[in-house]
Amino acid sequence: MVRHVYCDGGARGAAVATAPVRTPCGMGIDGAGQVRRSIAMPTQPTSPQPAVAACLAEALACARRGWLVFPVHGINDAGECTCGTPSCPTAGKHPRTPHGFRDGTTDEQQLFRWWKEWPDANLGILTGGESGLVVLDTDPRHGGDDTLAGLERENGALPHTVSVLTGGGGCHLFFQHPGGHAPSINGIVPGIDLKADGGYVVAPSSRPISGRLYEWEIGHSPDDLDLVPVPDWLTRRVSERPERQAGASKKRRGEFDVEEPRNGAEEGRRDDYLFRLACSLRAKGMPHEGAERQVIEAASKCRPPFPEAEARK
Ligand SMILES: [Zn+2]
Repeated sequence: MVRHVYCDGGARGAAVATAPVRTPCGMGIDGAGQVRRSIAMPTQPTSPQPAVAACLAEALACARRGWLVFPVHGINDAGECTCGTPSCPTAGKHPRTPHGFRDGTTDEQQLFRWWKEWPDANLGILTGGESGLVVLDTDPRHGGDDTLAGLERENGALPHTVSVLTGGGGCHLFFQHPGGHAPSINGIVPGIDLKADGGYVVAPSSRPISGRLYEWEIGHSPDDLDLVPVPDWLTRRVSERPERQAGASKKRRGEFDVEEPRNGAEEGRRDDYLFRLACSLRAKGMPHEGAERQVIEAASKCRPPFPEAEARK
């Protein structure tokens, strides 16, 4: 039986979704309980940006499940990332607060403050032990669908668990965090990332640059299903990764670890190196000033040093 009715801009799966509408989102805040009942999915549009109400409502619903959440940059009316970076490489997906996903919280008052300040913010959910979540993120543009189908043929179908259809046509499968240390791993297999400790995912009701809202899969919202444990074969796959057996860095070729000292690059590779470094830092949620400082430092270590004025761009 279908328990959720899809509608444009709705926050499916949010516990508040059936509450009556009293005010547009973020208006007339007068204590969390009162406002929480006031925030709802409009049956008729009450705001020019339906996603505004939806992201805050979803944030509150996630927080009540014990998941730490935080605002992520949104997409403005011109179709660009609200960070203001032209052609932002992680448009509508990177954190909006100074400490990125480390600002994740379940504090409802903080959520109201954030969405009052940035009503167009998308929503991020911190994964890992603090939220009790591990998320399998498949990206069809990099073969994630085929990879997942292959893994299921090999290991048996994945269990029914909470899942999100993403704006890029992929899906996020939510699992219980196994406890202990569960690292986030990009490209655990082609087209599939594992988001766990130190990671985050963009949440339902968020509007990506594609315009197609993230949404809970019908019948697979947290109101429909309980999270299931990470399948054993997936846990084995993580522990059997050769890089980890060798005790080597988790980073893949061409990726940067933000904790790693910057060693610069040789002439001819400097442009590409600094650009990828900047994208990587921003993708990991580093605020602009911090990322700029690190890029300038890395530029000075290039051989020959890369001009600072150029690096700032
Ligand atoms: Zn941006």
